[in-house]
Amino acid sequence: MENQKTRLAPSPTGALHLGNALTFVVNWALARQRGWEVVLRIEDLDTPRVKPGVVEQTIETLRWLGLDWDTQQPLQSSDLSPYIDAMRTLASRRSVYPCSLTRSEIAEAAGAPHEGEIRFDPSLRPGDIPTLFDDTETNWRLIVPDEDIEINEHFADVISSNPGQSVGDFVVWTQREQPSYQLAVTVDDARQGITHIVRGNDLIDSAARQALLRRAIGIEPEPHHFHTPLVRGSDGRRLAKRHGDTRIDTYRDKGVQPERILALLARWAGIPQNPGSLSIQAFTEAFRVDTMPRGDLTFTPEDDRWLLQRAPHSR
Ligand code: GLU
Repeated sequence: MENQKTRLAPSPTGALHLGNALTFVVNWALARQRGWEVVLRIEDLDTPRVKPGVVEQTIETLRWLGLDWDTQQPLQSSDLSPYIDAMRTLASRRSVYPCSLTRSEIAEAAGAPHEGEIRFDPSLRPGDIPTLFDDTETNWRLIVPDEDIEINEHFADVISSNPGQSVGDFVVWTQREQPSYQLAVTVDDARQGITHIVRGNDLIDSAARQALLRRAIGIEPEPHHFHTPLVRGSDGRRLAKRHGDTRIDTYRDKGVQPERILALLARWAGIPQNPGSLSIQAFTEAFRVDTMPRGDLTFTPEDDRWLLQRAPHSR
C-alpha cells in the first residue's frame, strides 16, 4: 500500500481560533487512528506579510493542544522554485496567460453583480496564449473549462463542481511575484506526497480548482478529501473577530486548560458522553468520523462561558 500522508496546513495569521482548532484536531485524530503520516506545513504565502514570531506562535499553539507531527516542511516562501517550475509546465502547455485586467473590468464583463468572487468571463482571455512563463508583476490565470469536475470527497455531500461557472479563469500566479494559494497548495500536496486532505468546508470550492490544476500540470493520483463543518457564530456567520476573541491563545492566557478546549471540540465533533475535560488521546480514541455532524456548528456565548468556568484569570 502507498504511504499515506496528511498535512496540517495553518496560515500564520496569528489567529488560530476555535474553528481552526476543530479542523486541526479532527485531522490529527483521523491521522493517528488510520496511521497516516502527519506533515506540518506552514502556509506563509497565504498572507501578504507574516508578522515576526507568528510562525513560532502557531506551532506553539498546535503543540499546546497536544498535536504533533512526523515532519515539518520548510516555509513555502523559502524556495519558490517548485512553483515556478509548475508555471513553466503550465505555460508550455498553453494553459496559463498573463492578465492585467482590474477587478472592475472583470466585474463589468461578468454582467450581473455577483456575490463574493467575480466570475472571469472567457471572452476576456487574450487571443495570444504564450508558451513561456515570465514573472513580471502580473497576475497569471489558468484557462478553466466549463465542465463539472469530480472531487474525491469522503465526508461532505459535494461530489463535483464547475469552476468554469463559479469563478472562471482563476489566478495561479500573483502580481506579488508569488504563487496563489491554489497553485501553492496543489504543488505542495503533490511534491510532499499528501494522500489525505482534511480541511474546513469553506475550501470545498477550491477542491475542484485544485483538481483542474493537477490535471493541467499532469499530477496524479487524486488525493482523498474530508471537508469538515465550519464553526459559526450565533448570527450564522463564520467565526471571526466580531464574535469576540475566540483565539486559542486568549483562552490559554486566561488559564483555560487544553483539555477543556478539547472537550468543547469533542462536543462539536459529535463525541458522545462528553466530559468536562478530555485529553487529545481520549479525543482520538472516541472520535468517529461517521458521527461527526454534517452541518456547520455554532459557537454561542454559553460555550464561551463554559470554557471559562473555573479558569483562574478569566476576568
Ligand atoms: N492554509 C489554509 C488555511 O489555513 C488551509 C489550506 C488547505 O488546507 O488547503 O485555511
